[in-house]
Amino acid sequence: MSIFNTHQQNIAEKLETDVKKSKWKDWHWQLKHAIKDIAMFEKVTGIKFTQHQRNELEDTVKKFPLSVTPYYISLIDTNEYEMDPIFKQSFPSINELTVYEHDMTDPLAEDKDSPVPGVTHRYPDRVLFTVSNICSMYCRHCTRKRKVGDVDYIPNKGMIKAGIQYIRKTPQIRDVLLSGGDPLMLSDDYLDWILGEIRTIPHVEVIRIGTRMPVVLPYRITTDLIEMLKKHHPIWINTHFNHPREITSSSKEALSMLADAGIPLGNQSVLLAGVNDCPRIMKSLVHKLVQNRVRPYYLYQCDLSEGLSHFRTPIGKGIEIIESMIGHTSGFAVPTYVIDAPGGGGKIPVMPYYIISWSTNKVVLRNYEGVITMYKEPDSYEPIFCDRKCDKCELYLKLDSVDDEYRATGIEELLSDADERISLVPEHNLRLERRTNSEE
Ligand SMILES: *Cc1c(COP(=O)(O)O)cnc(C)c1O
Repeated sequence: MSIFNTHQQNIAEKLETDVKKSKWKDWHWQLKHAIKDIAMFEKVTGIKFTQHQRNELEDTVKKFPLSVTPYYISLIDTNEYEMDPIFKQSFPSINELTVYEHDMTDPLAEDKDSPVPGVTHRYPDRVLFTVSNICSMYCRHCTRKRKVGDVDYIPNKGMIKAGIQYIRKTPQIRDVLLSGGDPLMLSDDYLDWILGEIRTIPHVEVIRIGTRMPVVLPYRITTDLIEMLKKHHPIWINTHFNHPREITSSSKEALSMLADAGIPLGNQSVLLAGVNDCPRIMKSLVHKLVQNRVRPYYLYQCDLSEGLSHFRTPIGKGIEIIESMIGHTSGFAVPTYVIDAPGGGGKIPVMPYYIISWSTNKVVLRNYEGVITMYKEPDSYEPIFCDRKCDKCELYLKLDSVDDEYRATGIEELLSDADERISLVPEHNLRLERRTNSEE
C-alpha cells in the first residue's frame, strides 16, 4: 500500500503547483496547507455546493471555524461524501447553528474548576492541563468548540509556567494530562521544555498526552518527536479514532512508532450519530485498534456543548454498543462507556445490567448470551471492621507512601466502617430545611 497515493497527489497539486512528493509527509507542509474555507474545500475535493448551501456554510464557519489537513481530506470518499464519516467529522454542517435549551458553552464547567488558567483540577489526584488551544484539524464534534481558534485562549509561556507552578505546589497531583487543543501542535523543543519542567516535580508519577495527531496528521509522529518523548517516561498517550476508516497505513505507522517507544496507547472515541452509532462499526474499530496495540479506553456520550445537537444519540445507543461487545469480544477491546457529567461532576461510567437479583446467600446474574446463573456467596467470610488504623491491621500495607490522612468521600464514605456519615443529602433539601426551621 502506498502512503502517498495518486488521489493524495491530485490534492497536493491543487494546493501547490510544483509539489514535491516528499512534502506531503512533512507535517509543517500539511499545516501550512490546511483547508480553511469552503471554496478551497470545493477546489480540493471536487465537491460542489449550490450558492445557497455555500452561504449557509459560510455562516457556520464564521461561528465555528473550519480547518482540515490535506491528509485527512484525502480520506473522504468524494462519491458518497454526504454519508462519509471523515466528511462529517471535519466539514461544517448548518445544524451546528441550531442551539437547544439544554445546550451549554462549557457543559463540563472546566472553566469553573480551574484554579489557574489552563488547569482543570476536578479529581483528587490528577489534573487536565491545556497547553495549546489549536489543532491540526477542527473536529466538528469538539466539546471545547467555544475555544477553537480563539486567540484569547492561546496559552502563553507565562500561563504555562503558572500551571506548572500550581502542579508543583499541589502534592496530591500524581497524574498530569496534557490536552488542548492538541499538545503536539507545539514544537518538539517547547514540549520538551514543558515535559522537563513537569518531570522535576517529585510527586508527578505519570504524564499523559491527549492528541488526535495519529488520526488527522500522522506525519507529526517523527523520529525526533519519539526520541524527545522517550526522555520523559512514563508517558502515556491517548488518541481519538472514531471510525475504522481512519486507520490507514500512515496512521498505523505512527501508532507503531509510538508503541515501539514504550508508550502505552489508549483511544477515546465519541459516540456520534451518523458516524459510528452502530455496534458493527464500533466492533470493527476496536478490533483494528487492538491490532495496532491501542487499547480502547473510553467511549464518550456526546456532550451538551452548543453546536453538537446533530451528533447526539440517546444513551441507549451506547449501552447497546457495549452490550454487543462484552463477552462477544476480547475484554481489553471493550472501552468504558462514560457520560461526562454536565455541570462538572466528571465522567460517569454506564453499563448494561448484569446483576438480576440477590439474597444474603446468593447472587443471580446473567451473561452476554442471556444465560442466567447463580453465584453462591461464601459461608465463612469474617467481615473485617476497618477502623483505618492501617499500622495495626493484619493485611499487608506497609508501603512508605501510604497516606495516613486518607479520607473517604462520596459513596465511598457511606460504605466505610470508619466514617459516621449515614446519608448524602443534596443542597436545599426542603424536608431538612423544615427541620432546621422548626428547631429555631
Ligand atoms: C477526563 C478527565 C481527566 C482524566 O480522567 P481519567 O478517568 O483518569 O482518564 C482528568 N481531569 C479532567 C477534567 C477530565 O475531564
